Amino acid sequence: MAHRLNQLRTSTLTTHDQFSSTSTTLISSPRTPGKKLTKGDPIVTGIRLRPFLERESAIDDTSAVQIFENNVICTQNSRPQIFKFTHCFDAAAKNKTIYDGMIRSAVLASLQGYNTTVLAYGQTASGKSHSIFGSSCEEGILSLSIHDLITMNGKNHLKFELSFLEIYNEKVTDLLAMPTTSNEQLNQKPSTKSSTTLSFSKQARTHILNKLVPSSNSSNNATRTLEIREHPLLGPYVPDLKYIQVKSKEDFQNVLNMGNQQRSVASTNANQRSSRSHAIFTVKISRIDVPQSTTTRLSFGLNSAHSVSNIGKSTTNSSSSKKSAKQQAQEELDAQAVRLNFVDLAGSEKSQQYNGSQGKNDRFAESIHINQSLSTLRNVIDALSRQQSHIPYRDSSLTYLLKNSLGGDAKTFMLATISPSSTVIDETINTLRYAGLASTITNVPRIKTPHLRHEIDELREENARLKQELFLVKSKSMPSIHPTVNKISLTRIDECLQTSFQAESSTSQEEINDEKLDTVDEEILAQIENQCRRPKRKRLSEQPLHEIAKIRKIDDTMLHRRLGTILSYVTDDFSIINDNGILVISDELNIDMKKNSSSWIDALERFDRSVDINSITKKEIVDSLNILFDNQE
Ligand code: ADP
Ligand code: MG
Repeated sequence: MAHRLNQLRTSTLTTHDQFSSTSTTLISSPRTPGKKLTKGDPIVTGIRLRPFLERESAIDDTSAVQIFENNVICTQNSRPQIFKFTHCFDAAAKNKTIYDGMIRSAVLASLQGYNTTVLAYGQTASGKSHSIFGSSCEEGILSLSIHDLITMNGKNHLKFELSFLEIYNEKVTDLLAMPTTSNEQLNQKPSTKSSTTLSFSKQARTHILNKLVPSSNSSNNATRTLEIREHPLLGPYVPDLKYIQVKSKEDFQNVLNMGNQQRSVASTNANQRSSRSHAIFTVKISRIDVPQSTTTRLSFGLNSAHSVSNIGKSTTNSSSSKKSAKQQAQEELDAQAVRLNFVDLAGSEKSQQYNGSQGKNDRFAESIHINQSLSTLRNVIDALSRQQSHIPYRDSSLTYLLKNSLGGDAKTFMLATISPSSTVIDETINTLRYAGLASTITNVPRIKTPHLRHEIDELREENARLKQELFLVKSKSMPSIHPTVNKISLTRIDECLQTSFQAESSTSQEEINDEKLDTVDEEILAQIENQCRRPKRKRLSEQPLHEIAKIRKIDDTMLHRRLGTILSYVTDDFSIINDNGILVISDELNIDMKKNSSSWIDALERFDRSVDINSITKKEIVDSLNILFDNQE
């Protein structure tokens, strides 16, 4: 409720009379929406500001967007607006920083058995492809993910297969399927497989052959358009999509190059096409030693009603009997595999007028379709954030394919990329609004394939080993960095075990405990890594006001931040608005108070000197806040 109120305020501020054009409007938009997030996981949202490009520096002296801690500050017509997100990366951040800070959790989630999706959203040239695919100067988050997957698969228990598709004009194209030569076309039999897997070398050979014998007939270069079907276990999927197994990073790079090359040959203007199409790169992860028998039932945490033997029955018996044993086995294995998707979305800007004479109609069709996919994506995000009963997934290929990632049972991470340029500030604010809405969507992730859990057991062992090492380091007197890790981890494990025993759910207790422990594992690993790399910096606004005053002047921005930090200890339901004074509103705490800056400074100093919010309970903080606000009245 408060969140939507904030969004409303944010969206109406530019035209609202009560704010003069020179006033400073700072709006906290708490990440947690009105709806409770107790069940499920919200979409993890991060913002990445890219540096100025050379051509832009000539226009702008300073960046129209600033990142400060968890806040993105956009200045439009001299008026700043603040958006708050879980992850914010400034223009100095490299892909590795994005990976470490946000995306590694996605990779770990996929290894835990969750289908996982990483979406890059933002206007054209804001840095989506740079983030996912990288550049000649730095690896992208996709390559860094593959690196970690391959490294973690030390004992080769896992098989990685890659697919790469593009959605352009609502049509799905397989970027790894080679353009067919005349001979192949003649010899081609209709596909009977639910998906096609080739080893890399065979695929590469075919590719090289095709390159060596280029086709003179352009129709021979046509790539196939694929259809999307909905599978009872997999959800929406592309049945004939080609998967290529990779065993090394070099294999991965070859597959990526192959797909990118295919993407560019399909267009006379590769840049234009890539900014108007959506690309989905998928890593399918499965265990090598999973029984391949068609008689094996899918009992891996999935509803038994969905076992393979029932799939055919839910359609027709005759179609079921038409399925070959091999096809059924393939479907079964597919259902047991986990998918880690990287989605490079088309540019989110509003469509342009296309005035060129050549290909005018085609471009018009593109703009409609791209808008259809993106506007459906926005409609889906909007409908989910409002918890509407009908979600229009089927209105576009993109949202249909992403159905499980948006409000479904996958884990989803959205990286929204933005430009520092003042010329596109409108689009930047739009991107931030949609990213804000996306962060209010809750998925209910389900572990798809507990057979991947073996890897988690290994991570646990690794974790135990790391912990032991930390204790050793500690005993050899490297005091302040590591002890907290163990203290925090052990407390968290206790907490998680206790809450998991109380949890009410249809899943088995064992499953709940395992999931909780997995979360703990992930957190512990992250903590260990963070702690080992760099001691966590305490944010300025986390310190008492009198301490902050020793370092910097207490202005309205600082007051705003300190108030926000204190309130966020006890509630997500609050808004702080700087408007000739500071207005604090919270339905949950029953606060609606406006005071001038010096009154707030007095009150907050008294508050901070009387309590240490880090060492008292939530209730005690609320009581102290009540005293603070009562005294103010
Ligand atoms: P998009 O995919 O969103 O259309 P790109 O990733 O192609 O945008 O980025 C547009 C341009 O900006 C490219 O030249 C790219 O190299 C550059 N760029 C984007 N992000 C960064 C970054 N973080 N650091 C350096 N250059 C970047
Ligand atoms: Mg791009």
